[in-house]
Amino acid sequence: MLIMDGKLKQLNNMKSIKILLLISLFPVLVFAQDLWTTPFEASDGLRTATYDDMVAYSKRLAEASPQVTYEVIGKSAGGYDVPILIINKTALSSPEDVRASGDLVMLIEGGIHPGEAEGTDAILMLMRDIAITKEYEHLLEHVTFIFLPAFNVDGLNRMGPYNRINQNGPEEMGWRANTQNLNLNRDFLKADAPAMHAWLKMFSTWLPDFFVDCHTTDGADYQYVLTYMMETFGTMDPMLTRWQEREFIPYVQGKMNVAGQMMNPYVSFRRWHDPQSGLRSGPAPPRLSQGYTAIQNRPGLLIETHMLKPHKDRTLATYDLLVFSAEFLNKNPDKLKLIIRAADRTTADPAFRDRPFPIQWKRDDTDSVMVEFKGVEYDIVESDLTGGKWFQYHPDKPITYELPWFNKSIPSVEVDLPEAYIIPQQWYEVIYRLALHGVEVKYLLEDTDVRAEQYRFKNPRWSRNPYEGRFAMGNIEYDVFADTVRYRRGDAVIDMNQRTARVIAHILEPYAPDSYVYWGFFSAIFEQREYSETYVMEGLAREMMEADPELKAAFEKKKEEDPEFSKSQWGMLNWFYSKSPYWDEKKNLYPVGRILEREEIDALNLE
Ligand SMILES: [Zn+2]
Repeated sequence: MLIMDGKLKQLNNMKSIKILLLISLFPVLVFAQDLWTTPFEASDGLRTATYDDMVAYSKRLAEASPQVTYEVIGKSAGGYDVPILIINKTALSSPEDVRASGDLVMLIEGGIHPGEAEGTDAILMLMRDIAITKEYEHLLEHVTFIFLPAFNVDGLNRMGPYNRINQNGPEEMGWRANTQNLNLNRDFLKADAPAMHAWLKMFSTWLPDFFVDCHTTDGADYQYVLTYMMETFGTMDPMLTRWQEREFIPYVQGKMNVAGQMMNPYVSFRRWHDPQSGLRSGPAPPRLSQGYTAIQNRPGLLIETHMLKPHKDRTLATYDLLVFSAEFLNKNPDKLKLIIRAADRTTADPAFRDRPFPIQWKRDDTDSVMVEFKGVEYDIVESDLTGGKWFQYHPDKPITYELPWFNKSIPSVEVDLPEAYIIPQQWYEVIYRLALHGVEVKYLLEDTDVRAEQYRFKNPRWSRNPYEGRFAMGNIEYDVFADTVRYRRGDAVIDMNQRTARVIAHILEPYAPDSYVYWGFFSAIFEQREYSETYVMEGLAREMMEADPELKAAFEKKKEEDPEFSKSQWGMLNWFYSKSPYWDEKKNLYPVGRILEREEIDALNLE
């Protein structure tokens, strides 16, 4: 706030002496000043940059400064360019050159939810203040920036005054979803949106050492302008967790305090809208941005400013936190680099697969710490309109509560990791997306019998309503058995001895919160393709029972225990069909095999 209020004043002063300068010897300076005023600044924080503003401003930056490279990483679903800006002190712009220079790479993303506009506005100003006014040029000392001013460019092009019902400005803002009505911040692992494909290619080529994602949050009212979240719950490599918890967060928290910015960890409340019910935080699944970079061994900072604060305050707070974060990365760049390298090695190491891998987490509701929480007074009134609870907050009555904060999570499901997965080639969509995530894929050079663990699903169920355009699975349950399976030349082998092992497990282990089984990539395996005619099965069922008294007993038992079953001719006859040799052995069988022995992989002929 301190920094930026100064900056806004400075710009206003510059405007007032514009006329003088126009007739002076330095008209270029005046022109430059207007040229670099962002829509946010020109409106004193009331407006945000449109897509065209963002692109034009970004291109001007790249034209004016050799340190800035404008690059289009791909197209959105709606056909708009998605630009990034690479800023490097010696004008390097390729991942190889930047890596060789020893710089850390910091990826700062705005506009994944373009209605939450402060990321885009803060990024435009920060890029200028690094490359043009040079006020923050020192941030380039050890850091190369990748700025993504607006990830969801489709949503940014759907500007309107009514896009965020709860939010306090800007006057017009973008829309949350892309033109496919997909939320990009649920798409990081499944990667359905074209812009996400572009993002993942960019991410796995650059492998940024630090990631920031800028948002605005809804929810109860409180004093903090900005809240933040990092993955410090145990889902990341322990050294990276410690670095975030003990080094990064204390530094930026201290700096924000000094700058007068009210910042707090991102929390939800045990009862919705009711801060006094207690605070809670937990890990993010990899469908979310910082949950995704966490399983890529890269720390991610989620910024969530509060929607009831004015757009101007939210943007200036975001700007400050971006500056302090970059400042900290410059202070000891080698340490983070070493920890990331070590985390990548640890993940690829055989010892990583010796331990159970936690794939689902739950909050520990028995363990909390008491913390101060700067809230506001509120009344809970019974509504005469709806009969519900009406929370009436009083921002003019700030109050500091002492509240329990439940911020510990414990693994609720763990899996034993295999040495490798093997995926038949017909599941090419899955194989292609693994590669998008930077996963190294090898292929069988000849048809081979492979000993692999198999999962057979039972009691599959699906959600009744679409979620992110898919019918996600509502129940995942399976039996495990070992088998020798004939795989074909061209089938894919995913060795777990690589740094993306966490990503691979999250995609291929069905219990993972964003597994491709959950998202429905494999849903066709649950469909029955052949059916018996009832008049055929009526006879066959009798023959089967006669030949097999145990089958008969099992049938009688099931009839007794399952009234639905006993009333359905089709259900009963299909049950006999499922026990007959005509039944499809591939139904409900997960096509992805798990190779448990290293020798088994060594024996494969792969390319
Ligand atoms: Zn958001």
